[in-house]
Amino acid sequence: MKVTLLNYTRNPEDTAAQAARLCYSPSDIKDIVKKYDKESNIGLINKIMSSGHHSVLEHVSFTFGIEGISRVTTHQLVRHRIASFSQQSQRYVLFKDNLDCIIPDTIKNNPEASKKYQKAFNNAYTTYKELVDIGIPQEDARYILPNGAETKIVVTMNARALLHFFSLRCCLRAQKEIRDMAKTMLLLVKAKCPVIFADAGPECVSATCPEGKMTCGKAKEVKKEYKALGYPS
Ligand SMILES: Cc1cc2nc3c(=O)[nH]c(=O)nc-3n(C[C@H](O)[C@H](O)[C@H](O)COP(=O)(O)OP(=O)(O)OC[C@H]3O[C@@H](n4cnc5c(N)ncnc54)[C@H](O)[C@@H]3O)c2cc1C
Repeated sequence: MKVTLLNYTRNPEDTAAQAARLCYSPSDIKDIVKKYDKESNIGLINKIMSSGHHSVLEHVSFTFGIEGISRVTTHQLVRHRIASFSQQSQRYVLFKDNLDCIIPDTIKNNPEASKKYQKAFNNAYTTYKELVDIGIPQEDARYILPNGAETKIVVTMNARALLHFFSLRCCLRAQKEIRDMAKTMLLLVKAKCPVIFADAGPECVSATCPEGKMTCGKAKEVKKEYKALGYPS
């Protein structure tokens, strides 16, 4: 899996702070931008984060390029509606010579399962090519392709949507592939926006687990893991 931060709002935390100040200021926007330095903007962002007035975070957005992930994971990703997506099309792209297959660790680490999985994937891919060879349009031949087929996607989310996404998808209840992806995205945005994302991650890191009976019961370990990323204790 390869996750790249392709682009993001310039001066992200200043931008959100300026938007917040405008709400309460009689000044012109130009004067607000000039008047407050980074330090006072950071102070305001801290207040916004603790008060929960998160709408100003929507002015900050991040665009990621994600490659080497399965259609399983992109299907889970695109359930997040407050985001924009562009995914490599199986209708328009013909997988003539190769189609990579994403193998979950549980299968990779089990030689018998690995053999069965690879065989089934290869059979499906061979059938896809045979269908195309006899004139079936690739958009129909692709129905035979498995969920483990590799794909690529570009996703843009604003900071508010990302906080919500991280709370769900960095959680141990999320599946490993999307969890690994979400954690990598979190590390990328945290480097650019350390205040906004200071507490980001599964809810058990900064509050209590909301999962009730479905809890993984590992809040202590998760907190420890995230503390190592530089989270407040
Ligand atoms: C561990 C786990 C297991 C899951 N299992 C399943 C499953 O078995 N089956 C399944 O179908 N899905 C499952 N999902 C997906 C889940 O139900 C959500 O579709 C997905 O996580 C996106 O969450 P969201 O709707 O909160 O986020 P987004 O779509 O990004 O929306 C963000 C927030 O905006 C608001 N919002 C967005 N759209 C609307 C709207 N139309 N009306 C009102 N408010 C809105 C809500 O407050 C929402 O929380 C699972 C997710 C997780 C993390």
